[in-house]
Amino acid sequence: MINVENLHKSFGKNEVLKGISTTIKEKEVVAVIGPSGSGKSTFLRCMNLLEEPTSGVVSINGQVITDKKTNIMRVRENVGMVFQHFHLFPHMTVLENLTYAPMTVKGVSRETAVAKGKELLQKVGLAQKANEFPNRLSGGQKQRVAIARALAMEPKVMLFDEPTSALDPEMVKEVLDVMKSLTETGMTMVIVTHEMGFAREVADRVLFLDGGVLVEDAPPAEFFSAPKSKRAKDFLEKIL
Ligand code: ADP
Ligand code: MG
Repeated sequence: MINVENLHKSFGKNEVLKGISTTIKEKEVVAVIGPSGSGKSTFLRCMNLLEEPTSGVVSINGQVITDKKTNIMRVRENVGMVFQHFHLFPHMTVLENLTYAPMTVKGVSRETAVAKGKELLQKVGLAQKANEFPNRLSGGQKQRVAIARALAMEPKVMLFDEPTSALDPEMVKEVLDVMKSLTETGMTMVIVTHEMGFAREVADRVLFLDGGVLVEDAPPAEFFSAPKSKRAKDFLEKIL
């Protein structure tokens, strides 16, 4: 589903990704972990061209997105993203947040978009909030809306960048539960997270980044119980 080959990204002289290669299969759930500043967000953002890779090849669902001729909007239709800070449209109701992109970008009819939007709100447990504005919701509710909004585009892949890091502790579970139910639908997911319990339970594979290098790429059982590198051992010791 996703193929990354020798991906480099520099900001000026700062080389943030130093040749990352990996393949993510359809329906695979991959957790990306690593210290702050290791390049996790940049890696994710290169997968939907929020950042333009300096070199290397990224393809998603057979489309080489790093090709200059690629239509970025088409790529983003297929790749949903959920951010730490939600980024909901504040002047739109919850339901309008979900129907806006399908209607304007994909040309879906209002009736279809509304029906799909309501169905998704039901799935994330927020059917009763359809006509609220985002500022009336809790952080956990906002993030569930953000997930539903990304799903409204019917993406092939979902990218999550620390979706629970900005939440109060009591709201983390409701968001992780929604993500977990999404894994059960067979969605291909790449999740940057500090929730090690979740990564261990839900991910098929863990990518450990440090200093812009993919240091380990292993199943969670293996990674968490017997990390191969000193860098991963040090990291796990600090956080577990
Ligand atoms: P992580 O998500 O693992 O914390 P990031 O990918 O956000 O790491 O950042 C990795 C490095 O890239 C950091 O040194 C950060 O300062 C730098 N960086 C990220 N985004 C930009 C940007 N837009 N411009 C300049 N430097 C950036
Ligand atoms: Mg980050």
